[in-house]
Amino acid sequence: MKIEVLTLFPAMFSAVMSESMMWKAREHGLLDFHVHDIRDHAGNKQRKVDDSPYGGGGGMILKADVLTRAIEAVKPADQTPVILLSPQGRVLTHQVAAELSRQPHLILVCGHYEGVDERARELAISDEISIGDYVLTGGELAALVFIDAVVRLIPGVLGAEGAQHRDSHANSLLEGPHYTRPSAFRGLSVPDVLTSGHHAEVDRWRRRQALKRTWERRPDLLETAPLSEQDRAYLAQLQAEAQD
Ligand code: SAM
Repeated sequence: MKIEVLTLFPAMFSAVMSESMMWKAREHGLLDFHVHDIRDHAGNKQRKVDDSPYGGGGGMILKADVLTRAIEAVKPADQTPVILLSPQGRVLTHQVAAELSRQPHLILVCGHYEGVDERARELAISDEISIGDYVLTGGELAALVFIDAVVRLIPGVLGAEGAQHRDSHANSLLEGPHYTRPSAFRGLSVPDVLTSGHHAEVDRWRRRQALKRTWERRPDLLETAPLSEQDRAYLAQLQAEAQD
């Protein structure tokens, strides 16, 4: 996958994209990542990219001509999505990340200040993504969250052993608890089943823990989760126990 980011603050990407899984994805040729400075398309000596809003009010607006030029300089003549990070976009979920992880090329646009001129949005943006119902000062952190969520779903990025199919939200459930050595710590022991060597029993326990945790913390997810007859019976049992 190729990801290109348009930003006023390119340096914000260097540390995150040079560490851990994002760096490995780049090293292994699974991610081709580029950052472009919107200011290079300012078209004036002062490199000014913003102006005050028509109609008054506070804040500055990223100019339509500058942003459109910056996007057109990188966008090929095809259906490559041009995504504006925006608190007004569709909210990033596992499903949205999975959908976009199948695209060969994404262009991400980071807004700043009070936002971007509406005409740039109409002319050059094809999708808008929000990372949650709150407002950040700029789109850079949102773009990094988006990139991490999408890139880890590209086959091969987490390696063959990756258990991302069990991760929270991958199947509309939260994942259950994890343990590692030592088997006893400050009076707390690892559940026996995890050291039993019975893989089928371990899988059954993990499934039940995921159901229990989701039922306790995010019961709303159970409304759309694909559940088997056994899952439903276990949830009914939890419900009955809670009422006792
Ligand atoms: N005035 C805008 C509004 O009320 O919708 C908010 C502008 S915000 C201060 C500046 C930039 O930060 C936005 O253009 C967007 O790129 C980014 N941003 C802020 N909150 C975001 C969120 N929740 N998700 C994604 N991007 C966000």
